[in-house]
Amino acid sequence: MGDNAVFRDMISILGEGSVAQNVSMKEYTSIKTGGTARFFAEPDSIEKVHRIIQYLKEKNQNFFVMGNGTNLIIPDNGYDGVVIRIGSKLSRINLEGNRITAQAGASLAAVSARALEAGLEGFEFASGIPGTIGGAVTMNAGAYGGEMSQVVTGTICIDEQGQMIRLNGDEHAFGYRKSRIQTDGLIALEVTLVLRQGDKSEIKRRMTDFNGRRRDKQPLNMPSAGSVFKRPEGHYAGQLIQECGLKGYTIGGAQVSDKHCGFIVNLGNATSQDVLDLIRYVRKTVYERTGVLLEPEVRIIGGEL
Ligand SMILES: Cc1cc2nc3c(=O)[nH]c(=O)nc-3n(C[C@H](O)[C@H](O)[C@H](O)COP(=O)(O)OP(=O)(O)OC[C@H]3O[C@@H](n4cnc5c(N)ncnc54)[C@H](O)[C@@H]3O)c2cc1C
Repeated sequence: MGDNAVFRDMISILGEGSVAQNVSMKEYTSIKTGGTARFFAEPDSIEKVHRIIQYLKEKNQNFFVMGNGTNLIIPDNGYDGVVIRIGSKLSRINLEGNRITAQAGASLAAVSARALEAGLEGFEFASGIPGTIGGAVTMNAGAYGGEMSQVVTGTICIDEQGQMIRLNGDEHAFGYRKSRIQTDGLIALEVTLVLRQGDKSEIKRRMTDFNGRRRDKQPLNMPSAGSVFKRPEGHYAGQLIQECGLKGYTIGGAQVSDKHCGFIVNLGNATSQDVLDLIRYVRKTVYERTGVLLEPEVRIIGGEL
């Protein structure tokens, strides 16, 4: 099927202004690297996500779904298919008692602000994570002792067959930075959290504390994709990397952050290749010197290491 026909069909499903061609993924990833997506779509309703997925499956077109792109490396030669972004156009948040239901594109910052406003505790850990709630449930994102698995009670998804399904709490198969949504390639559309009534000033204090600790420890003023590696059993990735003398180690425009060795930062002109080469180099060096094989936490589109 030719590009023009696919483009025309996608416009008729999603509407003018929601689909574009040859879009630079640098603009949509927090590490600011990556080539162009052949098509880039931002549906503004759950129904439209469902319809576009069914269409793309039927026509055998490649696609993948992203949120805020804060945990993603997209190759420099781009993505030869459709990138579907579930972000600010699908970000409605509803509150009912101690239950919050958010569309997958809602930012964690917005959901945690809403929880604070309602005096609901248990989501403070997420307030400084820069992703969407859809990305977070997929990654089982977590920080400071909290993670999505502790608060998610249900997710509406599209399954491998293109059907809408609901996953209840334990059906998510949450593990460390993984979930069934990730392993089975489902698409998260809407996430329900159940929180507890708490004390507003205490919730606010915890958020401020966590975010202050982030600012002190993480290179938030530079483009990055967050922690590059998962925490290995019994160690901290950043500490191992530092002990191997790799602090500040640079390949091209990519550098092991000198503020937090678990982060790779883009000095300004990094390519995804620089970042991937640096990830491989760090992994090899740490393995040779310590025997610990670091596993990437970042999602690398179109290939593994
Ligand atoms: C400065 C910084 C700090 C960070 N701190 C933390 C932290 O403390 N803890 C932590 O866990 N992470 C952290 N991260 C990583 C990242 O923010 C989280 O993993 C976040 O949950 C990713 O959300 P996203 O919307 O950006 O997802 P993306 O990066 O867009 O996507 C991540 C993965 O999820 C998939 N995905 C995204 N949305 C959906 C969806 N709706 N349905 C199905 N699949 C989807 C993508 O295909 C991809 O595989 C940090 C990142 C940065 C840049």
